[in-house]
Amino acid sequence: MNRIKIRYNLDFITVSSIAEQWYCEKALDLQYQHPNVGFKLPGLDIGTVGHELIAQEAEPITKEELKEYIKDGRALRLHETMFEGLYGNILIRGIPDYIEIKDGKANFLVEFKFSKKKRIFKNHRIQLDTYGYLLYKNKIDIKNLFCGIAIFPLNELNQDEAINEVIKKMKRWLSTLRNKRLDKLFFNEPGSFGGYLYPFSLSEAKSNLKWAMEYWLKKREPVPTKKANKCKTCLYNAAGFCKDALAEADKQRVKIKKKKDNSP
Ligand code: SF4
Repeated sequence: MNRIKIRYNLDFITVSSIAEQWYCEKALDLQYQHPNVGFKLPGLDIGTVGHELIAQEAEPITKEELKEYIKDGRALRLHETMFEGLYGNILIRGIPDYIEIKDGKANFLVEFKFSKKKRIFKNHRIQLDTYGYLLYKNKIDIKNLFCGIAIFPLNELNQDEAINEVIKKMKRWLSTLRNKRLDKLFFNEPGSFGGYLYPFSLSEAKSNLKWAMEYWLKKREPVPTKKANKCKTCLYNAAGFCKDALAEADKQRVKIKKKKDNSP
């Protein structure tokens, strides 16, 4: 199949880029225009450590083995496994943190976040919805799929908290959501993590992707955020690259760092 030319001549779009469109699409666009400018938040390294801890409990399997196991209906708990699929003829690729699949059906899809505050943003849900869409494109049944976000505050990150324990606790909250037939549930495990659970909706995921792809197909210009607070901590604002900023950048909080130029 001939692939359509997408913005910045990308071969594929990552799920995290799609999620970032809901934070500030303009900022995402500026990342591509100024790839040598980067910045470092103190939390990012700790987040990486957390993700490594999640993955270290897993045994690696090949793509072919995974297909076989799903076809055989095996009960699987997948950690950081790459999925890809097409929207129209645009390739989307992403690595969900955790998925449970049984009898060829995806039951539980979880994303782990590491942040100062246990706050849920729309882009977290978009990320999960897009992973759900990729599962559907890989012919995995998503009719009874539930999604969850677990947020670990950076200053309380308990590196000994086994992933199985986290999932067990989330499933107790999931029972409440199902029993009460709620369309979403915020939860908090005191002294540990908090988060959000909801039933997956394929129609919602498709409708979000429709909006996202208009940008990648150059049908519209990138949309800037309407929230001035985001502009205060925006790297591209601090660097003077954004004409749409709603507030001055707080240069005490945003430190610009030139990335190393790896070009030959
Ligand atoms: S300054 Fe505001 S509108 Fe501009 S890229 Fe940054 S967050 Fe987006």
